[in-house]
Amino acid sequence: MAKKFEVTLLGVNSAFPIHGRHPSCQIVNYDDQLIMIDCGEASQIQLSKYSIKKGKINHIFISHLHGDHCYGLPGLITSFSLQGRKTKLNIHGPFGLKKFLEGVFEVSEARFSFELNILEYNTELPTRIEINSCLYIDTFPMKHRIPTMGFRVCEQINYYNIQSEAIKTYALTVEEIKSVKLGQSIFRKGKEVQQELLVLPKEKERSYSYCSDTVYDPDLIPFISDSTLLYHETTYLDDLENLAKERMHSTLGQAIDIAKAANIDKMITGHYSSRYKNLELFLERGITQLPGLLLGLEGEVYEV
Ligand SMILES: [Zn+2]
Ligand SMILES: [Zn+2]
Repeated sequence: MAKKFEVTLLGVNSAFPIHGRHPSCQIVNYDDQLIMIDCGEASQIQLSKYSIKKGKINHIFISHLHGDHCYGLPGLITSFSLQGRKTKLNIHGPFGLKKFLEGVFEVSEARFSFELNILEYNTELPTRIEINSCLYIDTFPMKHRIPTMGFRVCEQINYYNIQSEAIKTYALTVEEIKSVKLGQSIFRKGKEVQQELLVLPKEKERSYSYCSDTVYDPDLIPFISDSTLLYHETTYLDDLENLAKERMHSTLGQAIDIAKAANIDKMITGHYSSRYKNLELFLERGITQLPGLLLGLEGEVYEV
């Protein structure tokens, strides 16, 4: 059976908190391991509001160092320590992340109860980060006003499910079941029984891509193509295409064009400009172009 793979949005506004919305933050849950992507102000308040177990977050990924994507970090990290966290916390982000965090913690004379591991990346250089044997994250460059990267969270299925009939037919032992799941054949009366005859077809590996913030950029397509689910910023509706270009953001229509060109059926909207109080317009205007369009709302959970 497929493992849990879902995304909870905690912040969907751009720039600053308004209309009850907050700056960028989301939680990817893969098989009960939590990964935070971006950490705008209010992220820790949102974690409490939606009862997310923050002790299960061991990796935080920061797309870029604009405040609406990282100003929640000092508060969140400090709270982890006040609550006696012991597990290492890995924070991945562009060069400058260390300077930002260490500067804050130095003036506050902060001391932590756990190891804080800050990993900096060249945003121009696609990098693969192994989380564990089931999950890895690919970074890729995005075009924005400062160095910015996108993330593709990828599932890695390295086991097979066994056909229940095969267990009976071949009277498989527990040890044999374990080795068949990992890809090995068995032997009966000196003859090999091919592993493919004992297992179900391998499940499709799912992936979730995150693109915020970015100007309309077809160069993203190869990095996100065939993702099961995409979050692409839709800061503006289509009438503000010029403003989007000037501020290096995307419109709803541009984001949908990217999704379609990347062969993606399901896309979540977000990073809304503060000028939009009513978000229903994003769904109304986009759904005819992409039937799998999902309106990004805080507290909502989206299955990958
Ligand atoms: Zn932003
Ligand atoms: Zn930005």
